[in-house]
Amino acid sequence: MKDDNCIFCKIANGEIPSKTLFEDDAFRVILDLGPAAKGHALILPKNHYANLYELPEETASKVMLLAKKMAVQMTDKLKCDGFNLVQNNGEVAGQTVFHFHMHLIPRYKNDNQTIGWKPGEPSQEELEEIRAQIVGE
Ligand code: 5GP
Ligand code: ZN
Repeated sequence: MKDDNCIFCKIANGEIPSKTLFEDDAFRVILDLGPAAKGHALILPKNHYANLYELPEETASKVMLLAKKMAVQMTDKLKCDGFNLVQNNGEVAGQTVFHFHMHLIPRYKNDNQTIGWKPGEPSQEELEEIRAQIVGE
């Protein structure tokens, strides 16, 4: 399940070289070329799934196990002070490469980086309306 026009398929499967931190039969973990912080890495499945919606459940669970393992190793080796796991789905959410990937972003005190959102201020009624919409009531 590869897409011939997908750069992350080529990287994940070793056709394009990358700074690889980990590889097994299903995944490659690489350093991001445009890092938000030192050590910013990406978990790439070797099979092509455009996004979280296409990702099989079993692969999704393995992604989180691998994220945990890498975060522990990277925290130990890089001596970072915290971590963001980020996964963008769809252009509106900031996705630019349409091959599923999980960002592993080590964070350092005073790294002067911003990863976040402007918090809204919904009323209790609005929260209840959204809750009911999501759960289908
Ligand atoms: P997205 O915006 O889709 O969530 O994340 C795409 C990420 O892939 C960006 O952080 C970008 O820097 C990284 N990226 C794009 N092209 C390449 C590449 O060819 N090699 C590597 N290592 N990272 C890439
Ligand atoms: Zn792909």
